[in-house]
Amino acid sequence: MPSSPRIFLSNVSLSTSDGTAHLPGLAGRAYRCQCGCPVFFRNSTCLACGTPLGYDPEQARLLPLQPGDEADTWIAWQVEAPATVYLRCANLQTPAACNWLLPASRAEPPVLLCRACRLNRTIPDLNDPDHPDNGELWGRVELAKRRLVSALLVLGLPVASRVSEDLEEGLMFDFLRSPDFGPHILTGHDTGLITLNLNEADDAIREAARKAMREPYRTLLGHLRHEVGHYYWDRLVSGTDWLEDFRALFGDETQDYAASLQGNYEQGPRPGWQLHYVSAYASVHPWEDWAECWAHYLHMRDTVDTALSFGLSPDSAQLEFTAFTLDALYQPEHPEAGRFLAFLNQWTQLTTLLNEMSRAMGQPDFYPFVLPHEVVAKLHFIHLLVSATGQASRAPTPAQESVDASHEQEAQALPQLQMQSQTWAWNPVTPS
Ligand SMILES: [Zn+2]
Ligand SMILES: [Zn+2]
Ligand SMILES: [Zn+2]
Repeated sequence: MPSSPRIFLSNVSLSTSDGTAHLPGLAGRAYRCQCGCPVFFRNSTCLACGTPLGYDPEQARLLPLQPGDEADTWIAWQVEAPATVYLRCANLQTPAACNWLLPASRAEPPVLLCRACRLNRTIPDLNDPDHPDNGELWGRVELAKRRLVSALLVLGLPVASRVSEDLEEGLMFDFLRSPDFGPHILTGHDTGLITLNLNEADDAIREAARKAMREPYRTLLGHLRHEVGHYYWDRLVSGTDWLEDFRALFGDETQDYAASLQGNYEQGPRPGWQLHYVSAYASVHPWEDWAECWAHYLHMRDTVDTALSFGLSPDSAQLEFTAFTLDALYQPEHPEAGRFLAFLNQWTQLTTLLNEMSRAMGQPDFYPFVLPHEVVAKLHFIHLLVSATGQASRAPTPAQESVDASHEQEAQALPQLQMQSQTWAWNPVTPS
């Protein structure tokens, strides 16, 4: 990538001059109860008024609920008919504390788990007397997984359970605890199966591993975003028209993976990796570079979206940062390139501010990374791939089009409902 002259900006806002976000938000992370109080993605009850809350992953909304006509069913609070009838995920009553909803159906066998929980193949033994903390650790993993899955769904990426929905190409998780006397469970991905070592949910163990591996950042959510990146490489890049440009940006993935890992283990990361990669581990092999950049892209989308949905706009802050310019992108001539660039610079602003906030509290930096130009091009490549995948998944089939047409007629009679429907239909990442 050519190096570009970087310009210096200050006093800039997270919003464009016309007040709109640079990229459409994922779906927002700011929710309100029917009582008006703010409620949060993880809540299953409003702490102010006691109203039950449930997350509908299809709408990407946290809904205040009221009981439906049948036992154990729920509908959104005072919604106009016809209301979607929901079940609460069966994992609500487990240490997973899952607050997600699923549509009630008469399917046999009955579906009792939500879209996120249906991805689990193996969960920890919750009755293991030697490890009474299994439930608590698993709960932390599930919270991170719900955050991941909610974003994947809104981006329009394929998220089907390899356990029960798509046995060929789906995704599934094993959450395993290393036996006390070995062998050590390795976190990783293999053809749609993501394995996560449950010990990673133990803060002390994870922090010790982070220090030993000299990583600036190590979290459950980071692990999951990284591993799911390997899954999407298999699904969206391997054997597709994207592969040639992938190789131009990330390198030839056919180079010996095991030897690359061994080399990293023995000699450490490539010298000067900071000039080319988002992390030291990304320099090990093109697959790891991809997964690290993929995780980074998801960090950025969710964090910027969260900031925007809470109305964070540091207009009044004296922010000084070096902005990226178009020539850092993978396709500077792309018609939406300017919007991605603006998003990228939003991210730079936001993380500059949040790092200072962390330092003010004596915490490690919120964002301990620097983005070299080569990484910016890789992130733009991922953005275009994700956008194209999301657009394709949302393109209506002829049958859906006729259903949509009949919905449109209904909507004319119920303009308010149509507005609600548009709100979440337009929120995803599709550039408009
Ligand atoms: Zn409330
Ligand atoms: Zn669930
Ligand atoms: Zn990896």
